[in-house]
Amino acid sequence: MICKNCDFDFNGKYCPNCSQSAKANSRLTFKNIIGDFLDTVFNLDKGFIYTFWNLLKKPGFVTRSFINSKRKNFTNPAKYLIITTAIQALSEYIIMYEDQGVPFTRFFFLPSEINESMHLWNETLTLDYPILFGIINLMVWPIPLYFLFKKLKNNIPELIATMMYFYGTIVILIQIMAFVYVPTAGKNLPIELVSLLATIYMLYALMSFYKKGSISWRIPRIIIAMLFLLTFRLFILPFMLAFFFPLN
Ligand SMILES: [Zn+2]
Repeated sequence: MICKNCDFDFNGKYCPNCSQSAKANSRLTFKNIIGDFLDTVFNLDKGFIYTFWNLLKKPGFVTRSFINSKRKNFTNPAKYLIITTAIQALSEYIIMYEDQGVPFTRFFFLPSEINESMHLWNETLTLDYPILFGIINLMVWPIPLYFLFKKLKNNIPELIATMMYFYGTIVILIQIMAFVYVPTAGKNLPIELVSLLATIYMLYALMSFYKKGSISWRIPRIIIAMLFLLTFRLFILPFMLAFFFPLN
């Protein structure tokens, strides 16, 4: 058979040159389109739901498999992040009370215009630019992990992939919580609940990811990293944006 993707002559189920499936050489059908969609989302071997489920059960195992080049078992981190962000946008569109806005913290030690602008920036990033917001966090979060756990020799790209998995999982957990909370309480999820859920999962996931070294070496480092992530997400980033580019 001649591969229609790369013109390579081959026998078997997949083209050895570009890995396109032999099935893809036939004409596109409805079955292909629906099948591909269902496969990406539900595939039991490496689909999104399977990856999400494993990131709940054993987050360290999923990320270490990917880092250690077992890359076919789970949805890859970039795809995982994009699917979770799409689910977030859809779920916010369906269940969020738009008139209530996105809940945010007020910092008593800051003037009210700065607080107001931070609130608006948080809302704009969450609702209008969720992917950009995700990327900013994912570029910054690995930095403290890199320095605190330097001894374990994970590089920045490996830590970014890890954070993509954990961040995406937190996004989905928040949407699940919102589906229960918002209709019952009649209001949007408060920031305290979102932060609590995110902190618990991140703590658990980092404990599962960093298995090497003694407990007394790991725990304080994980706590320092967590404090940095929370401070960056809730304070540093919105404060810098509000300070340099006030929205009012
Ligand atoms: Zn090919």
